[in-house]
Amino acid sequence: MKPLITGIHHITAIAGNPQANIDFYTGILGLRLVKKTINFDAPGVYHFYFGDELGRPGTVFTTFPFTGARKGVKGAGEVTYTAFSIPSESLDYWRARLKKYGIPVSDVLARFGDRLIRFEDHDSMGIELVANDRDDRTGWSYGQVPAGYSVKGFYGATLNLRDKELTEKLLTEHMDYRFIGEENGRYRYGTEGKPGDIVDIVIDKSGNRGSQSAGTVHHIAFRTENAASQLQVQEILIRNGYQVTEVKDRNYFTSIYFREPGGVLFEVATDEPGFAIDEDEAHLGELIKLPEWAEPNREKLEESLTPVKLNVEAYD
Ligand code: ZN
Repeated sequence: MKPLITGIHHITAIAGNPQANIDFYTGILGLRLVKKTINFDAPGVYHFYFGDELGRPGTVFTTFPFTGARKGVKGAGEVTYTAFSIPSESLDYWRARLKKYGIPVSDVLARFGDRLIRFEDHDSMGIELVANDRDDRTGWSYGQVPAGYSVKGFYGATLNLRDKELTEKLLTEHMDYRFIGEENGRYRYGTEGKPGDIVDIVIDKSGNRGSQSAGTVHHIAFRTENAASQLQVQEILIRNGYQVTEVKDRNYFTSIYFREPGGVLFEVATDEPGFAIDEDEAHLGELIKLPEWAEPNREKLEESLTPVKLNVEAYD
């Protein structure tokens, strides 16, 4: 049977200052702001989507930025690191680029045969850049990052959990993931085991629960092809005892949500219809786009949102 889940769709984090958030992900990391909308569940807050030039599934890091938000705490029951995939020859470029903007960067680390660097954004969001030559996605050039060095999309995500058994069972028995291997207490899973579908579990037995606020991941979304495959996933999860939400319309995809046994909020989102549904591909992210139900309140909503702009030319 064709797999229902094919990797990571998007990862959503809570951020602080919206402008600093845009500057970091577009200016420094070179992702494109492909959509500027509101948090559909809390309409007074932005929802930014950063991705490749079209915001393809598997490239999209999204944020809910709250001005003045206190910092959260990384801990058990959270995605603690979001890893992006970069070309194998680009580590030195990224180390130099991050240092240039005053961001402390780890030494080059080795993991499952790949080399990577680890750092945090201005909100202390945990990020890794994993150099590899197994990513067949073509890089794109946005802002001032040359295409040959550019972020290709997600590599994977690290889940910090007190136990792995029930989460492993969920991934491998109900979500089309398989166990790939273990290295230094890190358990790796993938649908194919390629950049874009990797989920690592790190066991943190004594770990305190994380607390969600700026700089922590709110949820991780997995990809499914369309509405029909999403209903199949929902049915499988419900049949196996998970408390799954109804299908929610997120405009650019539809979503179901449930909490995995280790405490991380999981979402399963459709590849369709994508970000060009309400904006021309050449102009993605330029205007504040609202779902139809919020349009009557546009004026009020826009007043409650701090104006933001792209500053990519300042990050050479
Ligand atoms: Zn989501």
